[in-house]
Amino acid sequence: MSFDGDIKARNESAWLLPTDGSRTDHRLRADMRRHEPTDEVDLVVVGAGAGGSVLTQRLARAGWSVVCLDAGPFWDPDTDWVSDERASHTLYWTDPRQIGGKDPVPLGSNNSGRGVGGSMIHYAGYTPRFHPSDFRTRTADGVGADWPIGYPDLKPHYQHLEAELPVAGQDWPWGDPHRYPHHPHPVSGNGEIFLRGAAAAGITARVGPVAITNGRFGNRPHCIYRGFCLQGCKVNAKASPLITHIPDALAHGAEIRPDSHVTRVLIDDRTGRVTGVSYLRAGVEHRQRARAVAIAGYSIETPRLLLLSATPRYPGGLGNDHDQVGRYLMVQGAPQTAGRFDDEIRMYKAPPPEVSSEQFYETDPGKPYQRGWSIQTVSPLPITWAEHVTAQGHWGEPLREYMRDYVHWATLGALCEFLPDPGNRVTLAEETDRHGLPVAHFAYTQTENDRLLMRAAQDSMETILHVAGAREVITIDRYAHLVGGARMATRAEDGVVDADHRVFGVPNLFIVDGSVLPTQGAANPALTIMALAARAAHRLATRQVHADTPSPAGAP
Ligand SMILES: Cc1cc2nc3c(=O)[nH]c(=O)nc-3n(C[C@H](O)[C@H](O)[C@H](O)COP(=O)(O)OP(=O)(O)OC[C@H]3O[C@@H](n4cnc5c(N)ncnc54)[C@H](O)[C@@H]3O)c2cc1C
Ligand code: SF4
Repeated sequence: MSFDGDIKARNESAWLLPTDGSRTDHRLRADMRRHEPTDEVDLVVVGAGAGGSVLTQRLARAGWSVVCLDAGPFWDPDTDWVSDERASHTLYWTDPRQIGGKDPVPLGSNNSGRGVGGSMIHYAGYTPRFHPSDFRTRTADGVGADWPIGYPDLKPHYQHLEAELPVAGQDWPWGDPHRYPHHPHPVSGNGEIFLRGAAAAGITARVGPVAITNGRFGNRPHCIYRGFCLQGCKVNAKASPLITHIPDALAHGAEIRPDSHVTRVLIDDRTGRVTGVSYLRAGVEHRQRARAVAIAGYSIETPRLLLLSATPRYPGGLGNDHDQVGRYLMVQGAPQTAGRFDDEIRMYKAPPPEVSSEQFYETDPGKPYQRGWSIQTVSPLPITWAEHVTAQGHWGEPLREYMRDYVHWATLGALCEFLPDPGNRVTLAEETDRHGLPVAHFAYTQTENDRLLMRAAQDSMETILHVAGAREVITIDRYAHLVGGARMATRAEDGVVDADHRVFGVPNLFIVDGSVLPTQGAANPALTIMALAARAAHRLATRQVHADTPSPAGAP
């Protein structure tokens, strides 16, 4: 299909993933269609994570020829994953990166994934929507930024994806109140503590929302409640693109090319248009020609690739005519509070995501800070529990005692909406990786508002655990979820992509991952990233955005 040709699949509902669980066999890859590098495909997608997978699946169903390259492996849950914390570190992106700023953010296991399925392979499984207010924080609260799109633009895509994953949870009273397609899961000891403490403290809490099948779903068995969601869910009860959107993309002719690290987006400097990508596979350089490219490599690698792709026509990197690439990178403040109970809690005997509250999500005019936080059960496994205890300064015999006492602890986590700041940024470092390419340097400094939110969130969690009967409470500060770095904006002076995800100044280059978020709310981001990708695919497939014409707002 060409961008100028007829769209074969006019029936838009035909682009969605079937909601009967029938498309869940990742082994379809044995029969995958394969393109020659010399073929000019309609679209190359860089990264098969939350954003890249949904874009690939939707456009493959719409009849586009799509090659999706991922730097990591094509995982097989049966043979590659183990229910073992230590042995699961291969799931993370551990290539070297530099961190700096006044509040450096540790990267690696807590921030990004590698391989087909992306970070959703080891995400916890929480799938809340953003609130309508998240799209206009500048107007409503005088902080952050207004998005060039609003909640109603994403709402139908949220609804489709909640059915496709599918999502289980109680009716949701916050933001835009809504229901979920699957009933909530039963809760374990940690969830019961949260519900009990929240009720006693006058805080509303709900079970869910999680992208974990409640009961058998098509080829997917039900959850066995063993708590290894952050280690890849060998069972396939937890949804990730590897077992949802990727198999469907394969069935509709997309090619997924694993172990292929894209090092450069190729540009014809005469026209200013993208012609394909250059990538390394087993140390050998290859190229794939394409009529358009969509980058979906996560918040650090996406800005890095834009910077690495500089040419004489784009000397500062692609989309960087206004020095915007890498800026406004955000991370949520994620303090974690544990409470010790006389009864055995055994928090590991359930998915870590069970119960959550968005009662403190919105700005409270009576408080000295803007925006808010959510609270969720987190249930660390033993190694992560040891990290919690050592972060409190315990070592030696006290550490051993906390570890022996593990079954008596319940743990909650908060997600605080840290605000975007232009100085929080990815740049290229002097240091190079094993391919000789400059690594990313990520500088991060908190604002005063961020610090106030962290303390308030901590207080709310400690209150819940105290009133639930905890005898001892310990809190540590953490970060979670990187987004931003190539944000969506109305004008090229304020961001890197327009409302259609098109890079300002490069007509056939798109960014379709978490790096386009202008603000992050206090919700986990994966469902919103998938919804953005579904919307972008819909607009491309229906030719509401053309890769053959420049963006009106940003063309040089
Ligand atoms: C421990 C943990 C728990 C989480 N829990 C939750 C949760 O419960 N709910 C939630 O909503 N979110 C959660 N998240 C966050 C969520 O998983 C991410 O926000 C989301 O997956 C990001 O989507 P993305 O498309 O931007 O990138 P990703 O899903 O990370 O996909 C990026 C892909 O690009 C590939 N890639 C990168 N660079 C290149 C390159 N140069 N060439 C080729 N391929 C490349 C990577 O290998 C990766 O597969 C969690 C994250 C972590 C780390
Ligand atoms: S608890 Fe359920 S969703 Fe989590 S890893 Fe186990 S089977 Fe998968």
